Formats: sequence, structure tokens, C-alpha cells
Amino acid sequence: MAEVPGGAGSHVDADEPAPPAVEAGSGAQGLRVGILGGGQLGRMLALAGAPLGMRFRFLEPSPDPPVAGLGELVEGPYDDPGALERLAREVDLVTYEFENVPAAATRWLAEHGVPVFPPPAALAVAQDRLAEKTTFRSLGIPTPDFRTVDTLDQLREGVEELGLPAVLKTRRMGYDGKGQAVIRERGEIEEAWGVLGSGEVGGASGDLLLEAFVRFQRELSIVAARGREGSLAFWPLVENRHRDGILVRTTAPAPEVTPHLQSLAEGYIRSLLQHLDYVGVLALELFQVDGGLLANEIAPRVHNTGHWTQDGAVTSQFENHLRAVAGWPLGSTAVVQPTVMLNLLGSLPPLQEVLGVPGAHLHLYDKAPRAGRKIGHVNVCAPEAEAAGARADRLQERLPG
Ligand code: AMP
Repeated sequence: MAEVPGGAGSHVDADEPAPPAVEAGSGAQGLRVGILGGGQLGRMLALAGAPLGMRFRFLEPSPDPPVAGLGELVEGPYDDPGALERLAREVDLVTYEFENVPAAATRWLAEHGVPVFPPPAALAVAQDRLAEKTTFRSLGIPTPDFRTVDTLDQLREGVEELGLPAVLKTRRMGYDGKGQAVIRERGEIEEAWGVLGSGEVGGASGDLLLEAFVRFQRELSIVAARGREGSLAFWPLVENRHRDGILVRTTAPAPEVTPHLQSLAEGYIRSLLQHLDYVGVLALELFQVDGGLLANEIAPRVHNTGHWTQDGAVTSQFENHLRAVAGWPLGSTAVVQPTVMLNLLGSLPPLQEVLGVPGAHLHLYDKAPRAGRKIGHVNVCAPEAEAAGARADRLQERLPG
């Protein structure tokens, strides 16, 4: 097994008492898990849960989602009490795979006696960049400086205070670089306001944040899990590369991570997990600046930058999320092999090209190809980090897009 850089990373806190197990469903049926959302994250959760004897039921608005065939499907809107009731029927607990599922839907379930993990309050924080930033600050987690912006005048004032470049972001519903614009010159202020201030992306008009532009050395993330009784598990920091705001490549573990940096990241995510009384997998996206870390955002779910764990770690993020929400012991997060994860965006490469790469593991989401859409990923593993990187470089050159 590869040595884990940083030493402090990739472990499960062993001091906690054994967790109380959730009562499984009747007889040999296993634990019945309801999932809000039926996308690729739900698909990979179901694939990880099957060997644990879990059964799944999904609530998903669109027909023929990536989870089709992996459990019972309830087709309906997330905010329809009838659909929520059909999801909740005959499940032992509910979790979610989609960050923009209305927090009110998770609260409705909790109020109707359905155990919901991660807790609805954590979802509400992650859905609002202002709440997220305020939480970071209250916990002493450094984050880029920001101003709230509800009017064009406030945007102009914010630019004066923070300087340029700056990043204007909608407070809500942003993902994969959508709902944000970099303002580089004063002449771009009105255009950015015109695009984002109308409320078309974020819901309400105004409701924006202006962030100082960070000249980071690199983007990192840490993914961690917290069990129902408080046990913690951390995977090592990984390095992420984006194109047009969309993740294209994750290197795991991130190269050149000192024990100090790993423990800094673990300290930040630990305080978030504990503060939010969190249960499940949480991801924290970070900017590395001058040997320190700035928190960008959290995702209250399994995360694209944790997909490498399917083939590169003893226990995947999907399995540990399910173990956590079930109240079962968390699995080891130790690295088995250095892994580079490449997202397949837009269209599929010839399968021969991918499967012919030594150490490559293909994960397809059963989604129709469309420009910029995540339709799968490849985990490229090797006994040494350099070899994993070189294999991934060669494959990446041949990927479409
Ligand atoms: P986000 O939706 O906040 O994750 O942002 C998407 C991507 O935009 C990030 O992964 C960064 O590459 C970039 N980005 C976001 N915020 C900033 C910032 N304050 N300074 C520089 N780049 C940023």
C-alpha cells in the first residue's frame, strides 16, 4: 500500500465508540435508502451500496435518469409532498445526491419522521454562498474577502473596496462555473450586472456576492466523512484542474503536500463537520496561496473530486457516505494506488482508447452526450504517482473536447 503523503491524512479516527447500527429493513432485504436525485452521483452510490445489501429508491424529476435500473424510481418534482411521500414510503432513511434539491424538501421529510442525512441545515448553508462564507468566518476558516451585492451601486462600491479583478457570483444555484463572472476592468461592471443581477440564474434579482480574485498557486480539495456518532475519516488532499469552471482532472493524492497543509485542511473540514453536526460525506474546495489555504466552497454530498477513491482508496467516498448515513463503521480512507481522475466531458472517446491504458478504470453515467456535460470519468491508477500522471497525460491528449 502506498505511503500517504502528509501522514496525518487518510485515516479514520479510531477513538470513537462503535456506532449504533440502523435497523435494516425486513428479513434479507437490507437497508432501504431513499435518494433525492437520480444523477451520476446517485448511480455511483447505488453501485457502492449493492454489495452492502442496500436497496435504493430515487426521487428524480426527469425521465430515464442515470440511476434507471438501479432501484425504484419515483418520477416527480422535489417540492411535491406527494412525490416526497412516495419516496419516503418503505425506506429507512433518505439522503441526497443533488446539491440544489430544495432544503424545504429535506425539512419536510425530517418533519415527517424520516431520518435525513446530511442534516437539512447543512444543505441550507451549502446552498447559499453568503451563509457558507459566514460559517467559514465564524469557524476561523480563511476565505476570499467578499461583499454582498444587491444593487448596481453596491457592485460599484464593492469593486472600489476589493479592487480588480474580482469575481461576481450568484448566492444560489451556481455550479460548474455557472452563475459567475470575472470582472477585470471597470468597463465590465455593468455587463456583469446585466448578466447576473437579473436573477435569471440565482432566483432573486440582486442576491450576489462579489469576491476578491485569488491568484492561487493551485486548487485543492479535501473530502471527509462523519458518522452518525461522530467518527471522522479524511481522504488526502487532492489537486484539481478546471476548464471554463468545470473540473477536468484530479490528481490524488495532491503532489507536494506537507503534513502541515494536510492537517490544516483536516482541521478546517473537521470544524465544519462538527459545527454542522454533519453525517455523510462533505467536500471542501480550497485555494492554495503562499503555503496557506482559502476555503472556496463546500458540497454537502459525494463530490467529483472524490471519484478517484473508487479505484485509488481502500474505501470509496460512495461507500463511506452510505456507511455514515446508515450509522455503520466508516471504512479506511488509505490510498491503495496514486490515481488521476479524468472527467469525460461532452462526448465519449472510443472505449478501446480508454480500456487499453494500463490501470485505467472507466465509469460511465449512461447520459446522452451533450457539449460540456459530464458523461463519465476515468480513474487512471499506477503504483507510482509519476506513472499515473504520465498515463493520464497520454489519455487526456486523446480525449475529445
Ligand atoms: P466555484 O463555482 O465557486 O467553485 O468557482 C468555479 C471556479 O472558478 C473555481 O474552481 C476557480 O477556478 C474559479 N474561482 C472561483 N472563485 C474564485 C476567486 N475568488 N478567485 C479566483 N478564481 C476563482
